[in-house]
Amino acid sequence: MLKIGITGGIGSGKSTIARFFEYMFQVPVYYSDVQSKRLIQNDALLIQQIQQAFGEHIYIDGVIDRKALAHIVFNDEEKLAILNSLIHPAVEKDFEQWCRTYSHLPYILKEAALLFESGTYRNLDSVYTVSASEEIRIARVAKRDSSTDAEVKARISKQWSEEQRNSHAQGIIYNNDEELLIPQLLQLHQKWTA
Ligand code: ATP
Repeated sequence: MLKIGITGGIGSGKSTIARFFEYMFQVPVYYSDVQSKRLIQNDALLIQQIQQAFGEHIYIDGVIDRKALAHIVFNDEEKLAILNSLIHPAVEKDFEQWCRTYSHLPYILKEAALLFESGTYRNLDSVYTVSASEEIRIARVAKRDSSTDAEVKARISKQWSEEQRNSHAQGIIYNNDEELLIPQLLQLHQKWTA
């Protein structure tokens, strides 16, 4: 079974593309962001590590205080790195376990924003990045999240650039207004099931 990563900058459309594979071809998709939120809330070891690093008050009656945690890490690179160093191994362990259920299939997808930045791309057979211009991505996210252009730009500035991702990926899925998307996805499905 191939483990294929789908990454891309904010608003590139990686979740939309992952959902297409899930619904059209019944391909199992591991949505890293969704799973990490679940683990932060339910994984006993991770909870203990987060409390040790950031204080017991980060959980109120067993429920993570997302605002308090975001407040701590948002403008503090060092604290954000500590949080990531706790979350990424927990997600990796969970992902490996999840993969075992699907070992009979030709391939599965792992959708994640930070596959390269986290180094977790190393545990995958290949990584494809979803590419769209910054202008398009800002417009999509502003519409989706009702955020301002400046807020989206601030989030973009914390991620790898489009060029960095493109040069590290085994392939690029173009999700802009210039190329047809679905033929690219059909071709990849054929490739990964061949
Ligand atoms: P994030 O990193 O923020 O999770 P993402 O890369 O997963 O973003 P999506 O949530 O899939 O991006 O897409 C961002 C928005 O753009 C969504 O509202 C989605 O419906 C829309 N979108 C994605 N691709 C297209 C497209 N080809 N045409 C029109 N809208 C699109």
